[in-house]
Amino acid sequence: MTSAADTVLKLIDRGTGGRPAIGAPGRQPMTFAGLTALARRTIATLNTYGIGRNRRVAIVLDNGPEMASAFIAIAAAATTAPLNPGYRLEEFEFYLADLKAAALVVAKGAPTPAREAAAKLGIPIMELVAPPVGAPGDFVLEPTQKMPDTVADGPAQADDVALVLHTSGTTSRPKIVPLSHANICASARHIRETIALSPDDVCLNIMPLFHIHGLIAAVLSSLGAGASVVCTPGFNALKFFGWLDEVKPSWYTAVPTMHQAILARGDRNKEIIARARLRLIRSSSASLPPQVMAALEETFRCPVIESYGMTEAAHQMASNPLPPRTRKPGSVGVAAGPDVAIMDEAGNLLPTGGLGEVVIRGPNVTRGYESNPDANAKAFANGWFRTGDQGTLDDEGYLRITGRLKELINRGGEKVSPLEVDEILMDHPAVQQAVTFAMPHDKLGEEVAAAVVLREGESASERDIRDFAAKRLADFKVPRKVVILAEIPKGATGKLQRIGLAQKLGLGA
Ligand code: AMP
Repeated sequence: MTSAADTVLKLIDRGTGGRPAIGAPGRQPMTFAGLTALARRTIATLNTYGIGRNRRVAIVLDNGPEMASAFIAIAAAATTAPLNPGYRLEEFEFYLADLKAAALVVAKGAPTPAREAAAKLGIPIMELVAPPVGAPGDFVLEPTQKMPDTVADGPAQADDVALVLHTSGTTSRPKIVPLSHANICASARHIRETIALSPDDVCLNIMPLFHIHGLIAAVLSSLGAGASVVCTPGFNALKFFGWLDEVKPSWYTAVPTMHQAILARGDRNKEIIARARLRLIRSSSASLPPQVMAALEETFRCPVIESYGMTEAAHQMASNPLPPRTRKPGSVGVAAGPDVAIMDEAGNLLPTGGLGEVVIRGPNVTRGYESNPDANAKAFANGWFRTGDQGTLDDEGYLRITGRLKELINRGGEKVSPLEVDEILMDHPAVQQAVTFAMPHDKLGEEVAAAVVLREGESASERDIRDFAAKRLADFKVPRKVVILAEIPKGATGKLQRIGLAQKLGLGA
């Protein structure tokens, strides 16, 4: 595999042309031949409009087959930059400018603030038009204004950047993670090998397709295996069992909160579960409580495979293996693609059982954050990439994540940078100081909370501050709890400490 599109082209050579590639509930799927034709057409269209290899195309589309096919087809020619459609105007302005996007792709007729952001920045918009009759995922791109002159770049190559995503890091400014075709194809292969995907597999995708988990674990791993992926409009616990019954997937991958919401409706859907043909259930992006794993296995009568992923690794780093090998609840499994080790602060690798930072190296790992030498100097040590997660390896090579060295908040798999939220809160006229932190939550694991100190003589309620934040931050980043304090408690060293603040303030689960 050299590029994502090559993956698809090569499969057709192996006779998969007529087999289903991308589907949607209630519709006849697009075949591998159809997807390849779409990729070829998209290369030609983008090149005609001056967009070629390594130029960035921001994509703002709802979840569904067009988002999956746009990722593959646009990456065949250029660099894809999928953005969360839930962002507010200000967030779109930041991301589009930071990406230096050459174009923005939005669905025809979709009223997204991304349009206004692109117009402000002078970024041309291309509308994605899905034909009224046609396979799910089929589209044409129509520019809405004059585009640059034609380029003759042709298909993307292995070392070209296929995908850029922003990571919510510890620093206030989200960092750009470039992932080459080689990176994402390696990761897709690792996932395929871990869960033994074959052309007979059918994945039901419920993960958002602006996140590495959905793009690589559900879409590219399936296509790379010659298998198909059926794309839903996004997770919906009420609709899940209907899809399960209709699509008869052999597996799905999701974050723990989705598994919990599914389990909560399990009793009401016993007949559908009895008819289901799930071979496995995969969980990643946040820690899966062992009780949830046990309940899922009992309900669906198939193995639950917990994996450990991150954007910088093009998703998968470690995974529990399929039976007959052992799954260890509470562990994220064994190295599953890259090498995985534990490192101390000084950069020494620790022996088995040692507690330290999880580090990785391998073909799926990004070559480094873009234009960010400081971040790269901190992130790479002796050829290893530091994940910012703390963990330990047992004598059988199973990894347990024990904590986090980075300040990132993990809201059930959605990552939130506390500094980004601080900056918005600080713009509120009554706020003098703001510290955003993770508060324990029984379902999400962590939820966003903030402590603020008001300016003397000013007043604002918790509600005012949350409403203010909600205008400028996507829903998932808005603090669910804002505590107004006279002073923010400091750690033993007198420093502000986000970690442990929830406990100090008595905000338990
Ligand atoms: P993302 O870049 O959004 O995929 O987030 C990556 C981060 O999610 C990792 O660095 C971990 O902190 C966390 N994470 C991913 N998978 C797991 C897991 N199975 N258990 C615990 N934390 C996880």
